[in-house]
Amino acid sequence: MRYVSTRGGAAPQRFTDILLEGLAADGGLFLPESWPRADLAAWRALSYPDLACAVLACFIDDLPPGALRALAARTYSKAVFGSEDVAPLRTLAPGLHVLGLSFGPTLAFKDMALQLLGNLFEEVLESRGQTLNILGATSGDTGSSAEYALRGKQRIGVFMLSPDGRMSAFQRAQMFSLQDANIHNLAVNGVFDDCQDLVKAVNADAAFKAKYRIGAVNSINWARIAAQVVYYFWGYFRATEAERAADDAPVAFAVPSGNFGNIYAGHVAREMGLPIRQLIVATNENDVLNEFFATGRYRVRASSEVHATSSPSMDISKASNFERYVYDMVGRDGKRLAALWAELGRNGQFELSSDADRAAIAASGFSAGRSTHADRVVTIRRVYRDHGAIIDPHTADGVKVGLELRETGVPLVCLETALPAKFADTIREALGIEPPRPPGFENLESLPQRFERIEPDVEVVKRIVAAGAAP
Ligand SMILES: *Cc1c(COP(=O)(O)O)cnc(C)c1O
Repeated sequence: MRYVSTRGGAAPQRFTDILLEGLAADGGLFLPESWPRADLAAWRALSYPDLACAVLACFIDDLPPGALRALAARTYSKAVFGSEDVAPLRTLAPGLHVLGLSFGPTLAFKDMALQLLGNLFEEVLESRGQTLNILGATSGDTGSSAEYALRGKQRIGVFMLSPDGRMSAFQRAQMFSLQDANIHNLAVNGVFDDCQDLVKAVNADAAFKAKYRIGAVNSINWARIAAQVVYYFWGYFRATEAERAADDAPVAFAVPSGNFGNIYAGHVAREMGLPIRQLIVATNENDVLNEFFATGRYRVRASSEVHATSSPSMDISKASNFERYVYDMVGRDGKRLAALWAELGRNGQFELSSDADRAAIAASGFSAGRSTHADRVVTIRRVYRDHGAIIDPHTADGVKVGLELRETGVPLVCLETALPAKFADTIREALGIEPPRPPGFENLESLPQRFERIEPDVEVVKRIVAAGAAP
């Protein structure tokens, strides 16, 4: 399998070459040259790690023999995700299911991809005799998920900037209680944008970046998408079994969306031949994507326009992975894609509204809706009252919009992107009770914490990276 850039201006590359890179040389995102075909009959009976190996082998064909199987088995285990099923499907009612993607170490779906990414990095760095230093900014979920995926890895240093005092006590404790020597938590006296600016400033120093081999684990990494494709197959197989439906019956997925990474993996699964009837995008008040699917206009927001909501992991100004989807919608025409993104750079927006564009979008099975704080609260209450289940605010956005847009007779699978324990405030507001904490998390906030407070000064960040970089 070879990888090309969405903007059509970079030479095709192998998987292990794009793994450690961010953007392609022409500024585009990498994706496979063509879509592989799924073998639904052979894949249905596989365990989660075996299914992961089968799906990932379609995208990753340049690791040493046996390496992928070993990686998949080590990553998708009961030890890491709490059950042999890894991503258990819960049936709330006939035709309504929740796919549990949040039983990894940080209780959010990002573990499903980042746990694999950490092990892939280790494998490839080991075989090349290289080291890597991850520099990132986080307002919550991504940073902790990356740290739990990379902790203790010999060849990798992690430097994570977060806005001091602005994460929840739970999120802070999750990150800062890590005692591994390769994890460096820097609490910046500022807001999330200050953290992001510091990361950009360090990366702008090309000599420093090269000397300390600075990398990222952002959501545009293809390995993260590939890892997410697996659970669409898994969820489809388990849902059709639960429904006693035909082996090729249509199913709908509802996905709480921000950067468009999670639901884009559903698009990939569909292109590979999975019978997905609907891919339902749920946004919160930050409704960039809802606006696109309603009007054909993609308009990114200024960071001052981003609302701080009670589903904070979907508070985005632009949807980073959306470019890959648009590439398919314009018939994989890299020139046209590049022109659209140039227009986006000039005007902050573009439109895809010709008859051909509309037809392509309609054929892709996507639809979208929006959910607000009041909707989340009502949905959490309703699901608790009717089905006895507690769902987190992000998942509630997905359930709300999924129930609104589902076609009658098509089973709906809602992706559970976090456990309610992470967002206790909203659960308390909706239900008046504390969400249950999984075993091992009871005393999280009282564990000793290890972090460094810093001023938003790029020289300080560089000094800390230089002192603690992986050898
Ligand atoms: C990251 C995240 C999302 C959004 O996923 P995207 O891939 O960015 O669309 C939704 N819910 C939770 C809990 C998350 O952490």
